[in-house]
Amino acid sequence: MRVLSVASEVFPLVKTGGLADVAGALPGALARHGVTVTCFLPGYRAVMGKIGAARVIHNFGDLFGSAARLLAAEHSGLDLVVLDCPALFDREGGPYGDATGRDWADNWTRFAAFSAAAAAHGTGKAGGPAFDLIHLHDWQAGLTAAYVAHGRGNRPPVVTTIHNMAFQGQFSPAIFPALGLPPEAMSVDGVEYYGDVGYLKAGLQYAEAITTVSPSYAEEIMTPEFGMGLDGLIRARRDQLHGIVNGIDTAVWNPATDPHLAATFTSATLERRAANRAALEQRFGINAGSGPLLAIVSRLTWQKGIDLVAALADQIIQLGGSLVVLGSGDATIEADIGAAVQRHPGRISLITGYDEPLSHLVQGGADILLVPSRFEPCGLTQLCALRYGAIPLVARTGGLADTVIDTTHATQTAKVATGFQFAPVAREPFARALRRAVEAHANRPMWFAMQKRAMASDVSWDQSAALYAQLYRSLAQPDPQRLSA
Ligand code: ADP
Repeated sequence: MRVLSVASEVFPLVKTGGLADVAGALPGALARHGVTVTCFLPGYRAVMGKIGAARVIHNFGDLFGSAARLLAAEHSGLDLVVLDCPALFDREGGPYGDATGRDWADNWTRFAAFSAAAAAHGTGKAGGPAFDLIHLHDWQAGLTAAYVAHGRGNRPPVVTTIHNMAFQGQFSPAIFPALGLPPEAMSVDGVEYYGDVGYLKAGLQYAEAITTVSPSYAEEIMTPEFGMGLDGLIRARRDQLHGIVNGIDTAVWNPATDPHLAATFTSATLERRAANRAALEQRFGINAGSGPLLAIVSRLTWQKGIDLVAALADQIIQLGGSLVVLGSGDATIEADIGAAVQRHPGRISLITGYDEPLSHLVQGGADILLVPSRFEPCGLTQLCALRYGAIPLVARTGGLADTVIDTTHATQTAKVATGFQFAPVAREPFARALRRAVEAHANRPMWFAMQKRAMASDVSWDQSAALYAQLYRSLAQPDPQRLSA
């Protein structure tokens, strides 16, 4: 079975968050289930620099007013088709905005062109035969479903995955004529979204199936609080909605072989983590003493609840803990964490920015990883933490609720606890969970037992890839109605 995966980020070529990890790891996991995946991605400057020798497989001539072609390449075991369109993608800055973080004003054109090209390739009209199924990720790929539905000829089934409902790609209705869709597409059954054009909405409306990245988040997005305007559509399509939890690439994230660690380790050699902790303290310029070393690897945003960490920083110190923070994001939150660093030099430290190797050392050296998100579709850092024996302390929401087993009397007795959860996301419940975790850390035999259990958790793609393969096969059955003239 051949599947075209359409995503605006793919690790290790381009990454701003979990979407890239998923788009980069799922193909390898699906291969073990007889599914061959081709990744379709934009030819950002960084991507073009990495792919090296590539073959031109299609020339669009004119795509949304610019010269564009499709290149086939291989990278890190991934089969790639890259949309080479310099006018739209060859720029300084990130995938979605300039170096200052401001969104590109022409994102609507960039990702409409990306989606139109993906639809052309997926349906066999540009550079090869049609695929058996097209899998779209997030709003940047969403319009592909509309182009497939309104296109001529072969129409493979489409699956759309929501990685984060907070990002929807909503644009003025004034852009509609430039999208090249028929007039009837600008309706409630099409791309129209509260009077605007909604790219994610289009992806959800036209797809044969919708998935999201955990069972709990699948439930949550049916409510107004988490559905963010799309809950009605999701409720109406609940029979086609599937919550499939993400995994991580257990070859990339393997404490026994990780080149970014000061000392590799397994659950049988947990004492070797001490060298990573020491290296981590040195990198961050702190001395955690005998208390627990808490850590954050995250975008520093309201969604991730990092404002609450800043608010509780003094209590973390009073409890005897120390804190290292790796990330960047909201200026106010960064400043609040910075103020906590000033109050507690040597015990709290912030490294601003994005540093993949350092994120591995954090997981391999920290005692406790904090993930106090207000909402979290799946979350990947807690999965890395489990695998590296950094005990996750998480908000009870979305994928965090589904992947971390809270320490309670019952789970302790049954010897299944792998971390700590709290709810709701507010100061007091968070502070109580911090106290519970610090107390547990002081009980060394119990803590080691929990670390071993955490490391034994299945955070791989195995089970979830099987679920995706099953879903693909259920949709790719020959259906004569899908073949239009
Ligand atoms: P998001 O909502 O940002 O996608 P996830 O937990 O799903 O959150 O995925 C975040 C990914 O980005 C993880 O692989 C995490 O390790 C990584 N990450 C986040 N911030 C940083 C950082 N500052 N440096 C390195 N890696 C980071």
